[in-house]
Amino acid sequence: MKVLQPDIYVSDVLGIDLDAFKRESIDTLLIDLDNTILSRDATEVTGEIRDWIRGLEQSGFITCIVSNNWHSSAIVHAEKLQMDIVAKAIKPLPFAFRQALVRVGSKPSRTAMIGDQIFTDILGGNLLGMKTVLVKPLSASDLPHTLLLRRLERFVLAGREPLD
Ligand SMILES: [Mg+2]
Repeated sequence: MKVLQPDIYVSDVLGIDLDAFKRESIDTLLIDLDNTILSRDATEVTGEIRDWIRGLEQSGFITCIVSNNWHSSAIVHAEKLQMDIVAKAIKPLPFAFRQALVRVGSKPSRTAMIGDQIFTDILGGNLLGMKTVLVKPLSASDLPHTLLLRRLERFVLAGREPLD
């Protein structure tokens, strides 16, 4: 099913070709938090990824975290990263994506959704007509229901491997 396929599949956010986004007039990046930029096994975002996020702003990208996380720690992480966040998002439902786009003043045709889960990040992004980027989860640890969905993800990806 096309709506479950990411446009781009890379190992991690550092592998995303930002110049290609520029060429396609994509200037907005909605970014998942858990296991996309923050490992489920860690308490902090790594320096490498913090630098990448800082670089996004310097390159003129508008960013907002869109996270299904219900804990206040998600907000704290966003503050530390100096990023906007829409938490308790209930992805793949469209509301939080739309809220994030309103907040940053953008629209789906200029936006890429970056995340580690097909049934939340990729499905939600595709349904709104955004470019979608799947990354491999930063950690094998995750919530029990997410681990169940990972099996279905493997089926959906049908052997598709990250570009890099
Ligand atoms: Mg995630």
